[in-house]
Amino acid sequence: MSWAGSHFTREGSPKNAYRTESEARGAAQLAWTLERVDLDAYRCDYCHQWHIGRRFRDG
Ligand SMILES: [Zn+2]
Repeated sequence: MSWAGSHFTREGSPKNAYRTESEARGAAQLAWTLERVDLDAYRCDYCHQWHIGRRFRDG
C-alpha cells in the first residue's frame, strides 16, 4: 500500500480534508472551473475524510 497521493502532499503536509464526498466533489469541480485541473475525490484510509487529487499519478 502506498500513501503517496493520499493523505499527504508530496511535500509531506496534510491535504485539505472534506467531511463528505459531496464537499470534496464540490472542491474538485471548483478547481476544474478555475484552473482546468482534473481532480478526483477519494476516501482517505488515514483520516477517514475525503481528499481531492489528480486522477493519475503526478509526474
Ligand atoms: Zn486523509
